Amino acid sequence: MAEEINRLIILGSGPAGLTAALYSARANLSPLLIEGFTPGGQLTITTEVENYPGFEHGIQGPEMMDVFRRQAARFGTRFLSGDVSAVNLRMRPFSLTLEETTVRCDALIVSTGASAKLLGLESEHRLMGYGVSACATCDGAFFKDKEVVVVGGGDTAMEEATFLTRFCRKVTIVHRRHQLRASKIMQERAFKNPKIAFIWDSMVEEIFGEPRTGVSGVRLQNVITSASSELRTDGVFMAIGHQPNTAVFASQLEMDELGYLKVRPGSTYTNIEGVFAAGDVTDRVYRQAVTAAGTGCMAAMDAERWLEAHE
Ligand code: NAP
Repeated sequence: MAEEINRLIILGSGPAGLTAALYSARANLSPLLIEGFTPGGQLTITTEVENYPGFEHGIQGPEMMDVFRRQAARFGTRFLSGDVSAVNLRMRPFSLTLEETTVRCDALIVSTGASAKLLGLESEHRLMGYGVSACATCDGAFFKDKEVVVVGGGDTAMEEATFLTRFCRKVTIVHRRHQLRASKIMQERAFKNPKIAFIWDSMVEEIFGEPRTGVSGVRLQNVITSASSELRTDGVFMAIGHQPNTAVFASQLEMDELGYLKVRPGSTYTNIEGVFAAGDVTDRVYRQAVTAAGTGCMAAMDAERWLEAHE
């Protein structure tokens, strides 16, 4: 493997990476797709997906990614598992280091995604997809007439809470300070909404529930008084930010101040010729499976044309 130079490597196996693989495999590029430690990406930690067009009755997230993977494999995508610990994009061919292997390529598509920041609680992990969610757009509709908690005080928390009031009877925002980080306009929208309540200076310490029955409540701790209290709730939405998975590209690929890769507007070209980026790793706004798949398709077409012009 070390001596072979791949025409195209795709890094990441979420909807962006697998769509890029499908398109580039059908263009006879025989792409090598590297799957990291969350094969299938963020969709594999969700349950039902109802908003991906084409699945009229919805589909489980992991099953959907399995279908994507099989479709990409059918046209000749090759797969390799492992975490990329270093990349060299300064020399051609590009090289990527995975544990003891080095793989090389002429063109690279980065679709390493973003990870929702989580609190790190055992109960949060256990109930993820069973009442705990990091995406109101994806899961809000499952909470019709229910009461939910949103954790966070930034724009995402305000946006998620406001969106959730379309379905939920009551939304309680739990924030660790008494001041929101969100922009004024988003704050005002949330303050004005009669379905939204706030609990200040508090952290979620524990989420109660079982995967079979869902979430039943949370234990909160007031960070000023240290007092504990319990709140009944049917769901918990984490909205404490996202982290694009770009650390390995630091000082090589251009990023914005939050670490999202910069692409030339209307394309998937990064600042390095032959390196393309698609999906949530470049997207701090939409973060949907369908938008990721769309930019994955764009990246494959950009890479194919770039390879054709440079070979
Ligand atoms: P953010 O601005 O970083 O806010 C994260 C929030 O979560 C903060 O209130 C923070 O508390 C809290 N938090 C972080 N870690 C926590 C922890 N471990 N436990 C409890 N609370 C924690 O992230 P974001 O809201 O996702 O926004 C990210 C960027 O996207 C921002 O630039 C935002 O303006 C933008 N955005 C814009 C829109 C829009 O304009 N429509 C919508 C969404 C996002 P502290 O305040 O105490 O630090």
